[in-house]
Amino acid sequence: MKLHISQPLKRSYWQESVVSIKPCPPMVGDSRAEVAIIGGGFVGLWTALTVKQHEPDCRVVVLEQDICGGGASGRNGGFVMSWWPKISTIRSFCSVEEALFLGRRAEEAISELGEFCNQHGIDSHFMQKGWLWTATTPAHVDSWNGTLHACEKLGVAPFQRLSPDEVRRRTGSPAHLGGVFEASNATVQPFALVQGMRRVALAAGIVIHENSGVSQIEPGQPSRIITQGGALTADKVVLATNAWSATIPELSGLFTPVNSSIVTTKPLGAHLEQIGWTGGESITDSQLMVDYYRTTRDGRIAFGKGTGAMAYRSVIGGVFSDDAESIALTQADLFATYPMLSPDAVADSWSGPVDRTYDSLPVFGSLRGHPNIFYGIGWSGNGVGPSRLGGRILASLALGRNDEWSRCSLVGRTCKNFPPEPFRYLGGKMVRNAVLRKERAEMQGKSPARFDKLLARLAPSGLEDKS
Ligand SMILES: Cc1cc2nc3c(=O)[nH]c(=O)nc-3n(C[C@H](O)[C@H](O)[C@H](O)COP(=O)(O)OP(=O)(O)OC[C@H]3O[C@@H](n4cnc5c(N)ncnc54)[C@H](O)[C@@H]3O)c2cc1C
Repeated sequence: MKLHISQPLKRSYWQESVVSIKPCPPMVGDSRAEVAIIGGGFVGLWTALTVKQHEPDCRVVVLEQDICGGGASGRNGGFVMSWWPKISTIRSFCSVEEALFLGRRAEEAISELGEFCNQHGIDSHFMQKGWLWTATTPAHVDSWNGTLHACEKLGVAPFQRLSPDEVRRRTGSPAHLGGVFEASNATVQPFALVQGMRRVALAAGIVIHENSGVSQIEPGQPSRIITQGGALTADKVVLATNAWSATIPELSGLFTPVNSSIVTTKPLGAHLEQIGWTGGESITDSQLMVDYYRTTRDGRIAFGKGTGAMAYRSVIGGVFSDDAESIALTQADLFATYPMLSPDAVADSWSGPVDRTYDSLPVFGSLRGHPNIFYGIGWSGNGVGPSRLGGRILASLALGRNDEWSRCSLVGRTCKNFPPEPFRYLGGKMVRNAVLRKERAEMQGKSPARFDKLLARLAPSGLEDKS
């Protein structure tokens, strides 16, 4: 089974703004692991840490092609979210009890992350100031109603309705026409978090090899994992390779890598206070190509957009590193939301890959015919918080534990598949462009073309379930 190794992606502001640490040495020669984890992002590191927690003597080896956090984990918006915004979709494939289990555990994982950082002295800029789910055009007002009703039916109330004036006051932007607030959500400096987790992992005796891209897995009991410098023999293998997993035929249908891009401003100082966005809330609008924005500890705005740009054959290259068209779209939305910013406010920008499933929730399992090779993919733009649960699920699967995690409804669930190439790319591009035109029309208060509305219905669902 061949794996794709990519060049390092353009470094993000988060990666550039912390002191760089010496990479762990690459793998050289032959080595042995009980659990091998491919990918040193949040999913790989949480899995490694959880395996060690269950079985301290287990030999766990993480292989990362770049540096830990070189992928999505070091280049995301840093929103630490729950799964309550997706509760209707979760309910569509599991029981009330199981939906509540996943919803509550995902919410708890946010505070647990703060406690983990405190316990280990990780300065991840963790700030639990809540999330505002807003509307920026009349067509999107109340798009949260279905989710709030689904929560009500389950007897939970994670969201609070806010008046339009209150939303405008808190966000400091006249673009916001309404919204709801989920208080449990947090933000982090994602790369600082990865670095902290990496340090904790090394201290726990987990072996990490960076600059150790895996080119091939020879499945078997045990499996052999081939890197440029050596071979690792492993009883269990965990694929924590996020969007890069799209080159594995069995996984390629489950998700498609799409672009998300972020621009950051210079530190805004007193200007941020004049704008009025001083409460530290993270914010999204209600577009399918979602705008997500938050402030940073040094007073910048980090403004992202899920632009949905794709690459032929899902190869992780330029489209997912520094895509000019996507960054221009993101920047335009930043200035539309905060028109008071000066035109030279932007300081940095980058792109990254999001592993989007059709319903925007992850899926776990083992590869067909290879019961010792596990995967967990499809975070769909909400992986910072939930990856902790993903680590529990993958650790339980890898250790053969029969528990609430290995039995949970995300394991082995049936997912709608994406078509193979070239239909995936050509069809995906058509649908994406229709969504773009539809949302552009909506944002301008115009009625979208019927054809665009029809095509847009074929798009995968978004970060939140919208009504
Ligand atoms: C621009 C952007 C903004 C986002 N914003 C948010 C947000 O605000 N909140 C949120 O919750 N989520 C967000 N996400 C999603 C979130 O970042 C991911 O869900 C999460 O980081 C996934 O973690 P991971 O470990 O699966 O992936 P990654 O961090 O991508 O880790 C996978 C690793 O595997 C390595 N790898 C791949 N192939 C190989 C190979 N052959 N050999 C060895 N190593 C390999 C890669 O180099 C990479 O480091 C965003 C994503 C992007 C791109």
